[in-house]
Amino acid sequence: MAVKDDLRTPIVCVMGHVDHGKTSLLDNIRGSAVVSGEAGAITQHIGATEVPIRSIVDKCGNPGLLDQFVVPGLLFIDTPGHHAFTTLRSRGGALADLAIVIVDINEGFKPQTIESLHILKQHKTPFVVVANKIDKIHGWNPQKDSPFMASYNKQSEHVRTSLDNKFYEVIGELYNHGFSSDRYDRVADFQHNIGVIPISAITGEGIPDLLMVLLGLAQRFLESNLHYDATGPGVGTVLEVKEERGLGTTIDLILYDGTLKKGDTIVVGSLDEPIQTKVRAVLKPRVLSEINVEDKFKQVSKVTAAIGVKISAPNLDGALSGGSVRVATPETLETVVEEVRSEVEAVQIDTDQSGITIKADTIGSLEALVNELKKEDIPIRKADVGDISNRDIVEVSAIEDPFHSVIVGFNVNILPDAKEKLRSTGVKLFMNDVIYRLIDDYKDWIKEQRALSEKTISETIIKPGMFTIMPDCTFRQSKPAVVGVRIIGGVVKTKVDITNEDGTVVGTIKGLQSRGENVSEARTGMEVAMSIEGPTVGRQIHEGDILHANIPERHAKVLEHELYDSLSADELDAMDAFLEIKRRDNPFWAK
Ligand code: GDP
Repeated sequence: MAVKDDLRTPIVCVMGHVDHGKTSLLDNIRGSAVVSGEAGAITQHIGATEVPIRSIVDKCGNPGLLDQFVVPGLLFIDTPGHHAFTTLRSRGGALADLAIVIVDINEGFKPQTIESLHILKQHKTPFVVVANKIDKIHGWNPQKDSPFMASYNKQSEHVRTSLDNKFYEVIGELYNHGFSSDRYDRVADFQHNIGVIPISAITGEGIPDLLMVLLGLAQRFLESNLHYDATGPGVGTVLEVKEERGLGTTIDLILYDGTLKKGDTIVVGSLDEPIQTKVRAVLKPRVLSEINVEDKFKQVSKVTAAIGVKISAPNLDGALSGGSVRVATPETLETVVEEVRSEVEAVQIDTDQSGITIKADTIGSLEALVNELKKEDIPIRKADVGDISNRDIVEVSAIEDPFHSVIVGFNVNILPDAKEKLRSTGVKLFMNDVIYRLIDDYKDWIKEQRALSEKTISETIIKPGMFTIMPDCTFRQSKPAVVGVRIIGGVVKTKVDITNEDGTVVGTIKGLQSRGENVSEARTGMEVAMSIEGPTVGRQIHEGDILHANIPERHAKVLEHELYDSLSADELDAMDAFLEIKRRDNPFWAK
């Protein structure tokens, strides 16, 4: 067996919580490959590093293995700031052929990492978990670049026990999240069991094992996906849309099939019409020795998959992160435009008449977010890819419904002018890189807002209240009348108008006193002194009268429709009594 020419390099992405070691792992793989000799030198791409098979087998200390592999190497996507690898697509499904999920063995899993695992599973992307930072285990005796088992066997008994304990905590956590896993060397069926590899990204221990497992997965599960046609038209996925000084808007892409040349016509996915443009330059990063050259990039005339490159071309402004790029000829242009259009349309992003506004970093992550919001019945007015801009804030601030004057951003930033604008609007912003956190935060906020608005409503709405003027309790006849009353239902408050049993407004409650103290309200059962502006005792009101708080019709509706459940039994009695009076003449009052 030997490397097959018609197989492209498998694309590998590394995911994990911040600080768990993504950058260090990639640095280690890169670094060791650089020193591993001319023939197998690694190549730095835009957004990716290619490690040839020779360099991998050298690193594993067994060049004799070279013949066993058919793939030309591994292409690591190496923009660790990019959280959404999992949601990047290619024609065949996920863009990444393989994934490494990294977890700090001393800290365990974080929500974002668990979410990545679920997405990988959903997309059927083969992956391994690496339990990183084993060198931090107390008493660890580092063995630079050694395979894991060799290193493990050199540790003292208690260090081994300590590692085993931490390692099984990781296995246990995976189990609790529904993933069956074991140490990689004990896994017979990688399709049903996740292999977990203990490593140190700093000392390099376990990294040979990781590379071997990745190659094994690639050979076993991917061969059929990796066939490509080097001479065919280039096809790729946009990693990022970036402004570059002197170049304008550029796109960084991973080309996963065919060839892309300077001057090619390309079709690029967009949320509007697919963009048709001509490649002005195909750019690769300069290597270290060329660092003095002023331009960061060097032009090449053509590239072949799999590779990460930057493209400069006119009209790339609406290019979609996560969308596709396809080379077209005059003959195929129409079909290719249709293909790209239908790829974007195939992403299920249904929006509603009204609802919240969402933004995500790629079209794939936008789809994931939409799906989760739909499950929760949260309506979406607009779904878009990109950072949160001033325009987004202005648009959303014009929405009247406060529950929809909301932007939910997944894996995106807020641009500085938008941040400024946000302060002067009532727009509510949620940002996170874990979908379920975003949804939980939004739901909690809604609950809070509802409770708050119920509270404000119930504070401003005039509540039902019914009382009687007690006999021999007229302290003053008028201006204002001061009488002793007993509350017989609900609550009465100052400043509220009162009506008699005929429904005639007879005055306004001016003050209430209980045991000589001014109070602002009195509840059922209380006996208080009430001063009433307007009536004279003996004329409009009399001792023994039953009087009611005069509820305006609008308030009565809110009470019946929105606050009914929060009313107590005596409030309901007072309400019924009052409605009976009002509906005597007009059965439809407050209906
Ligand atoms: P990222 O945010 O996932 O890219 O994490 P980094 O690679 O930047 O690592 C975060 C910190 O952990 C850095 O200070 C690294 O030096 C350290 N680190 C990463 N891997 C290891 C490891 O295997 N052992 C030790 N001791 N430190 C590590």
